[in-house]
Amino acid sequence: MAKSTSKRSSGKTESPLKTIIPDQTISIPRKILKVKAFTPICKPLNGSLPSSKISHLLKLWTFEYQYKNGKETKTSTATAYMIKGLRGALRHQVMTHCKERGLEVCHTSDKETDQKGNSLLPEGFHLLGSCTDSDECIVHAVFGSKGNSSKIRVSAKPIANISHKTFQAPVSIQNVQIATEKRVALTFEGKAIQDFGERYLAGEFEFEIDITKCTPEEMGMIIEATMYMHKLGGGYNAGYAELQIKGLDLVKSTTNRQPKITDQNSFTIEEEIDEEKLPEEFTNALTAWKKHLREYKEVK
Ligand SMILES: [Zn+2]
Repeated sequence: MAKSTSKRSSGKTESPLKTIIPDQTISIPRKILKVKAFTPICKPLNGSLPSSKISHLLKLWTFEYQYKNGKETKTSTATAYMIKGLRGALRHQVMTHCKERGLEVCHTSDKETDQKGNSLLPEGFHLLGSCTDSDECIVHAVFGSKGNSSKIRVSAKPIANISHKTFQAPVSIQNVQIATEKRVALTFEGKAIQDFGERYLAGEFEFEIDITKCTPEEMGMIIEATMYMHKLGGGYNAGYAELQIKGLDLVKSTTNRQPKITDQNSFTIEEEIDEEKLPEEFTNALTAWKKHLREYKEVK
């Protein structure tokens, strides 16, 4: 047995590992742009198959939570959902923002026309990934394309609709309003044979953009474009959302993790996150972005 082996090698009853493990802490710093947003109404996915019951928020899991009812602690359940489309919305905003600022950048399309010959490439953009050989544009450098990975990661904590204000969930959850609209697409002899639910969210929520790998001017471009984000969704058939950006924070977020041995000689991971705000770097990034714009115009 593992326990007796460690006894023999150390001559103590405790595992010798216990003295080594505190030195195993690994700290990984990341730069995160935290975005506080509000939506009065949002349906954040650009399409579902009419015949399916796919909702417009990705259903994740159902969990139990505790809340206080006077002196009593009670248990209830809620469902967690994922807000889809945040990265796409940011990508779109950055692209249109760059055009407004006079830069020619990658469009999201890598084809000039569709099968019917309709143009897919609006004026002021180049085809996705076509700049990599000559002069890579700043949007491609950040978002990449097929075969070229993106430098950033966009994420949001799962959302749930919990009416008990004193709730304590087992994982970090953002509490928002979630409404479901049931629709019947097809009926036969008065019975619904195809129906689907569409979910909307409303309220304040936060999302994060990991910009650790970005240069100052790339950070500045992302910060400026994020300030002007005003929609989420808006896809081909059903997306609808109004987005209001309420605030931004640039932080250095350091995750410290260390393994901790249990009595059964397994390891659990202890995690601690330190956060430090970087207001100077935020301002410097915007200055670097303005310089990038000036230099671009000088060359053209
Ligand atoms: Zn490009």
